[in-house]
Amino acid sequence: MEPEILLQNLIKFNTVNPPGNEYRCIKYIDKILTENGIKTKILFKDPKRLNLYARIKGGSNSSPLLIYGHLDVVKAESDKWSIDPFKGIIKEGMVWGRGALDMKGGIAMYICAVLKAVNEKVKLPGDIILCFLSDEEEESKSGAEYITENYKDLFNNVKYAISEFGGFTIHIAGKKFYPVQIAEKQICRIEAVFTGDPGHGSLVSGNTAFKKAAQFINKNDYFKYPVHIHPAVKLMVNRIGSTLGFPLNLIFLLLLNPALTNLILKIMGPKGDIFKPMFKNILNPSVINGGDKINVIPSDITVKMDGRLIPGVTKDDFIYEIKKVCGSDFILKNIDYKGYEHNINQGLFSKIESALKESDPEGIPVPFLLPGSTDARFFSKLGIQTYGFIPIELPKDIPFFKTIHGIDERIPVASLKKGVSAVYNFIKNF
Ligand SMILES: [Zn+2]
Repeated sequence: MEPEILLQNLIKFNTVNPPGNEYRCIKYIDKILTENGIKTKILFKDPKRLNLYARIKGGSNSSPLLIYGHLDVVKAESDKWSIDPFKGIIKEGMVWGRGALDMKGGIAMYICAVLKAVNEKVKLPGDIILCFLSDEEEESKSGAEYITENYKDLFNNVKYAISEFGGFTIHIAGKKFYPVQIAEKQICRIEAVFTGDPGHGSLVSGNTAFKKAAQFINKNDYFKYPVHIHPAVKLMVNRIGSTLGFPLNLIFLLLLNPALTNLILKIMGPKGDIFKPMFKNILNPSVINGGDKINVIPSDITVKMDGRLIPGVTKDDFIYEIKKVCGSDFILKNIDYKGYEHNINQGLFSKIESALKESDPEGIPVPFLLPGSTDARFFSKLGIQTYGFIPIELPKDIPFFKTIHGIDERIPVASLKKGVSAVYNFIKNF
C-alpha cells in the first residue's frame, strides 16, 4: 500500500474533535490490518470513539516497541483554505488536508512500514504494539487516558514508544536539523478574576475590572519571566551548537547561560521563536468573560489563561512567577495543573538517529522538548518513554509549527515515502 493513498483516505474521514467520531476511521484501519493477517482489539469507552490495539510477534532481543498515534484532528476553517481540507487532494506533489502533518500522515507511515515488515516476514527484534487512538486533541478521556488507566496489562514491559512529534525539518544557518521529542511541557490552566469599580456607561469610569485586566495582559511579557534550563533543551542546544561554525556556535551555546538567554533570543529575532517556549513557562490569555449589558460597567471580569510549564516546575512556582511579573491585583481560581513525573530515558535515541541518518545523511537529529503536549504524558505514567519520530522532510517555505493546526496543512508525497523507509529501517533494528 502506498502511504499517500492511505493518507488521502484517512483525511476523507472527518474526525474533527469535538466530536471526533473517529470510529469509521478506526474501522477502516482495522480492516486493512486484519486483511494483512494482523489480529486487532478494539477498545472503547464511547462506541463512537474507538481505539485500536494490535500486537505483532517479534523476537526476544528487545522489549516490545509501542507505536501509537491519534486519528482525531482539530477543526479547519475551510473558507480560508485553498482546497477542501477533507478531500485528501494531491496537488503540487503534496497531500493536502487536515491531519496531513498532525498526525494522519504519521499514522500512514507507521501502517505502511509495519505492513512492509510483516509482508516481508522481517525478523523483528521484539514485539511491536500498535495503538491508534481517539481524542488526543481534547482531553484524551476516550483515548489515551482511558486506555492507559484500564488496559495497563497490554503494555507490560514496554519501555519505549514512537509517536508524534519529531523528525520534521528545521533549518538553522544553512543546516537541516531533525528535532526528536523526548519530553514535553506540562499544562497548567488558570482563571484570573479582576475586580474593579462598576458603574454607568455614560460616566467617566474609575479603576474598572477591564483596566486591571488590560494592565495584567500588558505586563505578561515573555522576557520578564525567569529562564529554566531543562535537560532535553541542554542536550538540544549543545548538539546544534556543536555543528555550527565559529562564531555562531559560541553565540548559540550562550542560550544555556540564564543570564544571557533573553539577549541571545532577542539577537536571533524570528529565528529564535521556535526556541523561546523551551526556556520558560508560558502564560497566554485566551478567553475573556465579563459584562452582559452595553451600558453597565461590570464589577468583575474573568480571564482564562493557558499555562505551559517546563517539566519540574510546580504550580506554586508558576503562580509565584506570574505575581512577580504581572502584580497581584487579581484572584486566581480553578487552577487545573496536570503535572507528571518523567525521567528522560535516552536509550533509544541512537537507533532513531541512525534511522534518520540512513534516510537523509545531511540531516542532524537533535533531542527536543515539545512546547505543546501529546498523549506521551499518559504513557509516561506507565514508565514508557516516547520519542517523537515521524520523519517529515519539509521544504523551507512550509514551517512545521505554523502549518500544523493551521491553514493549508500538507505533506510532500516524497516525504511520506521517505518517512516509511525511515520507520521501516528503525523497526527492523530497534
Ligand atoms: Zn497530534
